[in-house]
Amino acid sequence: MISKILIANRGEIALRVLRACKELGIATVAVHSTADADAMHVRLADESVCIGPPPSRDSYLNIHQIVAACEITGADAVHPGYGFLSENAKFADILDAHGITFIGPTADHIRIMGDKITAKTTALKLGIPVVPGSDGEVKTEAEALKTAKEIGYPVLIKATAGGGGRGMKVARTEADVVEAWSTARTEAAAAFGNESVYMEKYLGKPRHIEIQVFGDGEGNAIHLGERDCSLQRRHQKVWEEANSPALNVEQRMKIGQICADAMKKLKYRGAGTVEFLYENGEFYFIEMNTRLQVEHPVTEAITGIDLVHEQIRVASGGGLSVTQDEVHFHGHAIECRINAEDARTFVPSPGTITHFHAPGGLGVRIDSGAYQGYKIPPYYDSLIGKLIVHGRTRVECMMRLRRALDEFVVDGIKTTLPLFQDLVSNQDIANGDYDIHWLEDYLAKTSV
Ligand code: ADP
Repeated sequence: MISKILIANRGEIALRVLRACKELGIATVAVHSTADADAMHVRLADESVCIGPPPSRDSYLNIHQIVAACEITGADAVHPGYGFLSENAKFADILDAHGITFIGPTADHIRIMGDKITAKTTALKLGIPVVPGSDGEVKTEAEALKTAKEIGYPVLIKATAGGGGRGMKVARTEADVVEAWSTARTEAAAAFGNESVYMEKYLGKPRHIEIQVFGDGEGNAIHLGERDCSLQRRHQKVWEEANSPALNVEQRMKIGQICADAMKKLKYRGAGTVEFLYENGEFYFIEMNTRLQVEHPVTEAITGIDLVHEQIRVASGGGLSVTQDEVHFHGHAIECRINAEDARTFVPSPGTITHFHAPGGLGVRIDSGAYQGYKIPPYYDSLIGKLIVHGRTRVECMMRLRRALDEFVVDGIKTTLPLFQDLVSNQDIANGDYDIHWLEDYLAKTSV
């Protein structure tokens, strides 16, 4: 059994994990940089340890300090949240060597999914549909041309070691392929220290649809439906919803079952997300995240299952709390990521929140570590909170979202709240009619 969890993260997700621990009667240890001494997760935790100066590499990414904090406080498990060390196989290995439970999958599974080519070949072997493309790395110009011809234009050249949507080039002709293959390699070598690239069919107007999976590590696994995260800016998700406006029940259960079956074969442990591009009724695997996602609350809203409780339960050896038959989907949920950024230019806006009033009422959830007087430090990502709204139907959910946004007040800094006020009144959004390019096209059209 787990009796004390160290939360190796900050911000809203540290608070999210802390809340689950409190409900389960598990003691909590917050860790923080000197910049986060006043953070809400530090105030609410049973114990806290300062692990270093503001830069993440010296604090939230500092494995030695975090392990030392476990030793000092006697924490027997670590929840990594998302980002930071959550997909760091070495961290999972080190905790294991110290007899501390890592609340997540095995280090091996983190490694497999962390390498894009290995992830894709593994997905294929497990029966998950993938984007047609090269068989691993494309090593020569001749191979690039041959592969492009086989899969058909346009194609996308991607860096094996890429991430965050960087290191990708579209090629529409043979001349493009020659050019893109060599520049992609040069750029990949410079950016990621690895010149290896691979090729995929380029999908023109896909949606981003991802499946939430959960395994017990013993060969049992379930899926909790999908999330549609097509509304993105620079490959960063902005608005997520469940269910996807593009899928019907049969499609949901079919792709969900494919993913659950794959996780059974893999003997996957804990929470995971299988990400797909979706176009013309077909799913194409792009990657798997071996951790809790920022947008997990929309799944919680429609299934009623607390994903962090479930993670802790599985990590304690207690298995899954539900079978697939016991998972039911109710209504519709939307999450808006509220960033401390200008809603037009997206320039970060750190500073002091002079007034903070969060909306409430039926079907409204706020996950945020922000409060009146809180000073947002300039060192970390600009997410200050998430507004999650649930309704019996998508229409009801949108009505509720509109009034929740009207109630929300954050003064003293700029936030992306005005962007969501625009989106909630937009006809394409109301119709659920958008793809992964919609938001950037909209921002370009409406820019002043
Ligand atoms: P990263 O790890 O850099 O995020 P992904 O493979 O997840 O890389 O791709 C990031 C984004 O790039 C996707 O969400 C999608 O917007 C776009 N993308 C990736 N592969 C394709 C493809 N084959 N066709 C069209 N767009 C793609």
